[in-house]
Amino acid sequence: MWEMRENRMEVIHTIQLCKTCGVCSKSCPAQINIPEALRIYEKYLSGGMRILEKLDEMESPGKPVDCIECGACSDHCLNSIDVKELVRELAMMQSCRRLILPRHGGGDGKMKRSGMFLISAGLLPLFFLAGCSQMGQTDQKQDRIPSRQEEDPLITENDMEKTMGAADSDAKEEPMEPEPAILLYQGQASIRIVTDEGKVIYIDPYAGDSYDLPADLILVTHSHFDHSQTEKVEYRNEDCRIITQKEAVLNGKHQNFNLGYVMVEAVEAGYNPLHDVNECVGYVLTFSNGKSVYVTGDTSTTKQMPLLREKEIDFAFFCCDGVYNMGLEEAAECAEMVGAKHNIPYHMTATTDGRHFDRELAEQFEAKNRLIVEDGEEILVE
Ligand code: SF4
Ligand code: SF4
Repeated sequence: MWEMRENRMEVIHTIQLCKTCGVCSKSCPAQINIPEALRIYEKYLSGGMRILEKLDEMESPGKPVDCIECGACSDHCLNSIDVKELVRELAMMQSCRRLILPRHGGGDGKMKRSGMFLISAGLLPLFFLAGCSQMGQTDQKQDRIPSRQEEDPLITENDMEKTMGAADSDAKEEPMEPEPAILLYQGQASIRIVTDEGKVIYIDPYAGDSYDLPADLILVTHSHFDHSQTEKVEYRNEDCRIITQKEAVLNGKHQNFNLGYVMVEAVEAGYNPLHDVNECVGYVLTFSNGKSVYVTGDTSTTKQMPLLREKEIDFAFFCCDGVYNMGLEEAAECAEMVGAKHNIPYHMTATTDGRHFDRELAEQFEAKNRLIVEDGEEILVE
């Protein structure tokens, strides 16, 4: 899905060298809050397509688009980051975004959709290099084209206002659809999800090594070591929430958490000697595009599973190692009960090469609508 994957990771790692000391901003004649701009860039690269809006909303007097490329930021960065280059790329994206997605009406829906495609495909920087400058020229040319009022003096200001109003209401009629969340399966029960809003969710941190995006939410299904290594999530945003089984089941009642960018519903898990139903949970997550993901956690068949069918879940992950957990056969029966659109086997014994994924075992999961997702693979929640 990421054509520019390697370059993307390289840029993410460069941005992560930033210690947000703010030295660069102090030397910036355009008064740009550079550390904030870099955070926005990082979230954009991790799949938060809408996050580019934040560039226009920055509170500092200067925005990346105001950069004069003096290079003072790079010269002053104590971590030898090529800050100027990063700000230049952000400036490109910000100017392209302004051209493609005008904020106050104008532009037809088609342009909006093609703009969103470029953003969601992570191609804006390339797009800019190839053609955005031409768009800029077109824009300047348009400045020289006489206005309709200049051409036809019979058109009154009132008419113009009405026309602009119509354009605005046309634009309002086509709200942009939320983009799908991007789900990375890391092996065992470990999952990372980046939502349309750029929020980063980790579930059962343990396997894999993709913990470098700052977390907004960490979900833990139970306390066993292969589900609860929250210390692996070193980077966390200020308001990062951690929800474990302790918060998720209160007095035997499973809780819901509406966080705006995601609705998290704790559901039953357990029903075997090593997994107590009061100390283990599964989760159903529903994102802003209405699509949902269910993770069973460690469990045998639960009483609640048949009731989950009415939620019309899109992607369901079923544990299937058979060690105080469902085995492959039971997991397939549970998949039938839940009736999700895609059934994914997870939490299986590690293979000899140290991965927390076993392809051979996954292929023996005989659920309808089976989807095999290997460790390190990303899917779109759509
Ligand atoms: S290169 Fe741009 S961001 Fe860096 S100090 Fe100069 S104006 Fe500011
Ligand atoms: S000087 Fe370097 S490390 Fe400090 S905020 Fe700027 S980019 Fe980050």
